[in-house]
Amino acid sequence: MSRVAVIGAGPAGMAATIQLVRAGIEVQVFEQGRVGGALWNAGWVENYPGFPGGISGHNLAKLMEEQFLGYVDNIISSSAEEIILTEKGFFISGQEFDGVIICTGTRPKKVGFTCEDKLAEAGLLCYGVADYHAWHRVKEACVIGGGEASMDMALSLTEEGIKVTLLHRSEPDGILALKQEAISDEEITWLEGEVKEARIHENKAVLALENEERAFDMVLVAVGREACMPEFNGFDMDDAPAGLLVAGDATRGGLGQVAMAVGDGVDMAMTMDRYLRSKK
Ligand SMILES: Cc1cc2nc3c(=O)[nH]c(=O)nc-3n(C[C@H](O)[C@H](O)[C@H](O)COP(=O)(O)OP(=O)(O)OC[C@H]3O[C@@H](n4cnc5c(N)ncnc54)[C@H](O)[C@@H]3O)c2cc1C
Repeated sequence: MSRVAVIGAGPAGMAATIQLVRAGIEVQVFEQGRVGGALWNAGWVENYPGFPGGISGHNLAKLMEEQFLGYVDNIISSSAEEIILTEKGFFISGQEFDGVIICTGTRPKKVGFTCEDKLAEAGLLCYGVADYHAWHRVKEACVIGGGEASMDMALSLTEEGIKVTLLHRSEPDGILALKQEAISDEEITWLEGEVKEARIHENKAVLALENEERAFDMVLVAVGREACMPEFNGFDMDDAPAGLLVAGDATRGGLGQVAMAVGDGVDMAMTMDRYLRSKK
């Protein structure tokens, strides 16, 4: 029986795994965080077919996880740091595989102001709503970023009764429906500006902007994401060996959409099946 490693269990990895198992292929999943990936951070997903009126990212992730867990017996709950090319296939964390599908998605970018890491270490700054669990103590938050993810996060927070300042550097950009919803939300204040530096005062994050300082209970950062990739040993991705495929947001270098990730996952699983059959 052929063995395939799926690295990452976000929507792409879950969809790829289900398709591979259905094709009779043995799959080993590696997941360094929580099954469901970036989807746990999505407030309301309106564009995934099958859910008239939409569904929360949290509930969609839970449903996908439930379905996925019906197909896998064993998930390695750690990072697959390195993929080594061998004569027979690939070597990852001490195991041999005939093929690998990389579904590692994206990681959030930092803003880059002084003290950003210090605020994060103090629990006063995070990069996604799912990364933080004490929203009850937050009355006023600042969301930094002017794209769809920042508006989605701001709306998730106002639903929890939190007042939000949405700090954006340039003209906010996002899908029209989401932008209109965020504009009509009275608990969201839009502020054009840039964080110059930050400090902690009385358990609040104090952000220094161009001409003023503002204190918040919590700062959320949504200034873009970049692709995550394991290390490669014996090859590089410009000349990827047969049997090594990539699916989902990791292929795009930034945030895509759940339907795209799921479609990619199924597509790459079917490509893998054809490749493994051709080797026999
Ligand atoms: C705030 C926000 C709002 C969004 N709103 C929407 C929306 O309304 N509609 C929509 O369609 N999409 C939305 N998205 C985008 C959607 O969540 C992503 O496109 C989708 O989750 C991408 O799936 P993926 O499997 O490619 O990657 P991810 O979901 O990023 O999953 C990758 C997984 O790989 C794991 N991983 C990474 N590296 C390794 C490694 N080396 N070893 C082991 N595991 C690893 C990670 O822990 C993660 O679980 C939103 C995203 C965010 C953040």
